[in-house]
Amino acid sequence: MSITILLVIYVALTLGTICVVGIYSELERRRFGPAHPEDRVFRCAKCGLVYTDDADADRSRCAQCGKLNVPVEF
Ligand SMILES: [Zn+2]
Repeated sequence: MSITILLVIYVALTLGTICVVGIYSELERRRFGPAHPEDRVFRCAKCGLVYTDDADADRSRCAQCGKLNVPVEF
């Protein structure tokens, strides 16, 4: 077995390991990361429905009764 083949195998194994680790960490991040971390939570003052909307929405219309609500502050 020549030194060239050993080098090719070494580089291929190293790149393969990096690829597997990269794919695995990406899958873990998608599984545990919040789907919409910047969403605001709203609670309807009229019917009590709790829902979310975009972070830049200062007021959001209730999907159930149509009343405009302000976001809930935690
Ligand atoms: Zn409502």
